[in-house]
Amino acid sequence: LANGKTIAVAFMGERVTRRIVAIGSGKGGVGKSTVTANLAVALKRAGVKVGVIDADIYGPSQPILLKSEDMKPEAEGETLQPVIGAADIPMLSMGHLVNKGRALAWRGPMAGRALAQLFEANWGDAELLLVDLPPGTGDVQITMLQKFRPDGAVIVSTPQDLALADAARAGSLFDQGEVPILGLIENMAGYVCPHCGEASDPFGSGGVERAAGRLDLPFLGRIPLSLAIRESSDAGTPIALGDTPEGAAYRAIADRISE
Ligand code: ADP
Repeated sequence: LANGKTIAVAFMGERVTRRIVAIGSGKGGVGKSTVTANLAVALKRAGVKVGVIDADIYGPSQPILLKSEDMKPEAEGETLQPVIGAADIPMLSMGHLVNKGRALAWRGPMAGRALAQLFEANWGDAELLLVDLPPGTGDVQITMLQKFRPDGAVIVSTPQDLALADAARAGSLFDQGEVPILGLIENMAGYVCPHCGEASDPFGSGGVERAAGRLDLPFLGRIPLSLAIRESSDAGTPIALGDTPEGAAYRAIADRISE
């Protein structure tokens, strides 16, 4: 991130340097949103002033992951005030702007205007905004990158070949948008049975690290497939809040990103 361009903003008379990091994936369901929420919590624990923008217009899930489902952002004039989610993280989601289940109906120009409101909100003294992108590599994502110009991007993939091919496409999307890729994260690698302790790899393991090598991109780390991650996500209490091995895995990646 050291080489990233920065946005200097005025906050209560002080200049704040703010960076934007987008979290993307080639396809849905690989855990991009879960990674975003837990990295935010891990970064916050490390003392970084972090905020979260949920730009996933098709399936905004940050209000559940960071427990702010029933919150509505207040507006000062045209400027939205982020709501405060789990771990006191300021955040805004398309899910906060529409009634539950309605986000799917958003059309291009309207979605564009709503997204701009999220980015132009009053982010106060936040130093780092993590953006949960919609999955895939279509027009919506390209427009978003061109308009909001993140300083860097992180790609999440599962270890399967298919997911990896999609992740490579996500990489070329960021290249086209001239967004530097900070690295790849492998999610759902390695499952330890909570009953018998036996380790297995339902989706394989190591595939993302090998792909990172082939693409000459940094490998940022690996998150295991874990029932505790799924349960804590559903409960809106991200696992990175606690001192579990899963939490430690997210924290190790957060350290690499904030270096
Ligand atoms: P995406 O944002 O890529 O669509 P999500 O973050 O919504 O994916 O995750 C999809 C599902 O997988 C959710 O139910 C989530 O709780 C679960 N999940 C994500 N990562 C893990 C993991 N490492 N272990 C177990 N379940 C996970």
